[in-house]
Amino acid sequence: MVEMRYAPLYDGALIPRLGLGTWKMGGDSSPDYSQDERILDALRTALDLGYRHFDTSEMYGGGHTEELIGQAIRGYKRQELFITTKVWPSNLHYRGVLKAIEGSLQRLGIEYVDLYLIHWPNPQIPLADTFKAMNELADQGLARYVGVSNFDLRLLEQSQIHSKYPIAANQVPYSLYQRTYRQNEVLEFCQENKIILIGYSPIGKGSVVADRRIGAIADRYQATPAQVALAWLIQQPQVVAIPKATSREHLEENLGALEVKLTEEDVEVLNRLS
Ligand code: NAP
Repeated sequence: MVEMRYAPLYDGALIPRLGLGTWKMGGDSSPDYSQDERILDALRTALDLGYRHFDTSEMYGGGHTEELIGQAIRGYKRQELFITTKVWPSNLHYRGVLKAIEGSLQRLGIEYVDLYLIHWPNPQIPLADTFKAMNELADQGLARYVGVSNFDLRLLEQSQIHSKYPIAANQVPYSLYQRTYRQNEVLEFCQENKIILIGYSPIGKGSVVADRRIGAIADRYQATPAQVALAWLIQQPQVVAIPKATSREHLEENLGALEVKLTEEDVEVLNRLS
């Protein structure tokens, strides 16, 4: 089994550098029960291979993705898992957040989540209302850490003001192909403030595999383009990646990124890739 690597949260606790994304496992925004056997098999395979960090949302599969994860993790020691879920923007008013986390915990079959994120900002609902609830649920131990997703610098700073607890993470699109949050200084801000940047769509939804420039670097490490794309991310301070994969082959391949150590020269070449 490949050895997991970790990034430090603000208090020194650890989050696995590679997690499993679960968007579209069990449906898009409404449940699709037709693939349950295949998805459960994928989640159990991921656990067998050593994945312990799962990323989901109350929105994925209209809640069914959380149910499937709940079934797959049954029997595993809770403290060995790192489970992130997210509250959807329409639920960001005070009571909505408290109700949303109750639903997520019930579907996941757990008593607390490791990380609870605001999935997307909602300009119609004051952040103060949302964080009043986020503060309470963290007080009650329903979430070990709270954070945000798709937040720019201004919103991130505002969140820090409203949150009683440090913002633990900001989940944003980040890959060799998608560097908006690096260019707009969110990454730098996260690194300076001990905030984990969780990169979503880290292999460009699978598109990096066909890139010959990445392939040429990968060949030198006897690795694959997906592994190089992930290694480039998780070598950066405070950066964690959550590739989604359902086949055993992809699940194994992505974990293999943990063993790829890119040289500074290759990181530079990849930094310049556009
Ligand atoms: P991704 O992880 O970049 O790509 C997933 C796609 O790549 C799937 O089609 C998968 O196929 C394929 N794949 C996986 N490993 C591969 C490999 N080694 N070689 C070739 N293809 C491979 O994209 P994503 O699902 O958009 O992002 C990952 C996760 O981030 C999501 O699942 C979700 O948890 C999270 N996310 C969050 C937000 C947000 O707003 N916070 C938005 C988007 C995503 P198979 O499934 O067939 O293996």
